[in-house]
Amino acid sequence: MTAPRLEIDLDKIHHNARTLVERLAGLGISVTGVTKASLGSADIAKVLLRAGVSALGDSRIENIEAMRSEHVAAPMVLIRSPMLSQADRVVRQADLSFNTELAVINRLSCAARAAQRTHQVVLMVELGDLREGIMPADLNDIVRAVLQLPNIVLSGIGTNLACHGGISPDADNMSELSALADSVEATFGVSLDLVSGGNSANLDWALSGVEIGRINNLRLGEAILLGCEPLHRRPIEGLHLDAITLVGEVIEAKLKPARPWGTIAQTAFGEASVVACRGDIARAILAIGHQDVDPSGLKAPIGTRILGASGDHLITQSDSNHPQVGAEIRFGLNYSALVRAMTSPFVAKVMMAATYEKPCVPVESHH
Ligand SMILES: *Cc1c(COP(=O)(O)O)cnc(C)c1O
Repeated sequence: MTAPRLEIDLDKIHHNARTLVERLAGLGISVTGVTKASLGSADIAKVLLRAGVSALGDSRIENIEAMRSEHVAAPMVLIRSPMLSQADRVVRQADLSFNTELAVINRLSCAARAAQRTHQVVLMVELGDLREGIMPADLNDIVRAVLQLPNIVLSGIGTNLACHGGISPDADNMSELSALADSVEATFGVSLDLVSGGNSANLDWALSGVEIGRINNLRLGEAILLGCEPLHRRPIEGLHLDAITLVGEVIEAKLKPARPWGTIAQTAFGEASVVACRGDIARAILAIGHQDVDPSGLKAPIGTRILGASGDHLITQSDSNHPQVGAEIRFGLNYSALVRAMTSPFVAKVMMAATYEKPCVPVESHH
């Protein structure tokens, strides 16, 4: 089989998604399955829907269009504020978009009117992470303006944390979001269907037994695909951590010195190569590099160490089981490595078909 390739176990993704959907359903929280890391893969989207997600969310209209053209039948949410230049495409293919700018919502209103459609918006509120969001003090003014716009429906409010400032979702910021929902409803006499509390980083908060308040939706990508929560990158109990793995192929395997020789300056990607010891070590080169993956986000199998990478080469040291040319080595991935590999045209994506049967081996508990 060709390499490098991502092997994607759809049953494991289904298990992860279903487990989270069920745990959160008990709290009155629906799950929007986030597909942006999977480049609009219809196979993965369909597995998420089968696992019970209430909608699909993606940050890029291109991915939503790709899923639509593959006949993925679901409410589609654009979770990044639309570009003005893409407003027409957004109202045609997305049912709902997350917004922070009145100029954009105005344009969506015009585009929706021209297309004779209704477009739903969720207003994103800034609660400290300092990526997207309307400052809470400005929310009422924007709501008032949005409620006037033809062909636009205000579906709710939301927030996003833990992406730029590293701010954790907690009882304080989540109850602030609940209070804002109550206040918008009381001020304008509307009812907000959706109060979307955040992403995979909200799971610790949501599952900790605290008061959930008005939060009735989370948008989950990383936790479903990788089985861990993004705040401390700890495994989530009962989820598979290896639903997606990367397989690379060895193109050189030699005993060579541990240390480089000659005059040392910068390397291809700036960082100096790792020098561990003296003498010869078993080095292998795999045909994977920065063009395919974020090498710093790869987890090598036991007995193999990653020494460095360039654009097209990954250099490893093996302590035992020295690989031969042509051998394949399998790596785990973090989110950064996963996104780059998923979007690299050089990395094949091999889906292991979903059977939707319970795995015969029980998932190990991590506690
Ligand atoms: C990426 C993203 C998500 C999903 O984040 P994960 O950590 O993958 O769960 C949710 N909401 C927004 C606005 C996003 O950009």
